[in-house]
Amino acid sequence: RLSIEGLTKYFGEVLVLDDISLDVAPHEVVCLIGASGSGKSTLLRCINKLTEFDYGTIALDGVSIDDPGWGRNGLYRRVGIVFQSYNLFPHMSVMENITLAPIKVHGIARAEARANARELLAAFGMDSRGDAYPEQLSGGQQQRVAIVRALATHPEVLLLDEVTAALDPELVGEVLAIIRRLKAEGMTMVIVTHEMGFAREVADRVCFLSDGRIVEEGEPGTLFSAPRHPRTQKFLQRII
Ligand code: ATP
Ligand code: MG
Repeated sequence: RLSIEGLTKYFGEVLVLDDISLDVAPHEVVCLIGASGSGKSTLLRCINKLTEFDYGTIALDGVSIDDPGWGRNGLYRRVGIVFQSYNLFPHMSVMENITLAPIKVHGIARAEARANARELLAAFGMDSRGDAYPEQLSGGQQQRVAIVRALATHPEVLLLDEVTAALDPELVGEVLAIIRRLKAEGMTMVIVTHEMGFAREVADRVCFLSDGRIVEEGEPGTLFSAPRHPRTQKFLQRII
């Protein structure tokens, strides 16, 4: 269980996360929506310790992410993150991209890491692509590899930041299909997305961020069809 309480962050003088509290239950899928600059990416980056915050607590199963007991790698193993730009290492094959962290960071034996990677690639319809280099893959395939790479350490929580935003429209579907499937398998996810139709379908709960605050949250059916807060109404009117 991921528990965020009173999370507050400044960039210099600018308040970018303002007293955010959010609880994500095991197997729950929470979608974060909101205008550009509302703090969605910063929130994900705080959860994964990619950025520091000023006040509040973030805990995984009751243990603060700042607890020295995690070590840096312990937390990374349990919380995976995938970005809009897939950030695959261009000079490494798909297989090397996927097995790098398990081998180098988590000390898993090479053979075991490769077997695990092969299994994941097969599960996501890319069995034959292990030896390919990122530039030989379509954007959609690269993003699928990035997701597989995040899954390779068997995280308990997966954070996805606009993973379809950089893709051509015809490639969006194959990435969404993977997310759908991860949900069916019970993966706990926090998903930042501009695809409202997808959020509506996949989210158990949607949180609308505005100026660093969660101003409204609820089940997608309710939030999308009957938003209560004027800012949510305005945001949805503009984009749907
Ligand atoms: P988008 O939908 O465009 O991705 P977002 O909701 O993800 O937006 P963030 O990237 O979290 O927004 O940014 C929140 C605020 O923090 C913005 O005002 C942004 O300018 C600011 N910000 C983000 N990163 C930094 C940084 N490294 N230094 C200074 N300010 C930053
Ligand atoms: Mg962002």
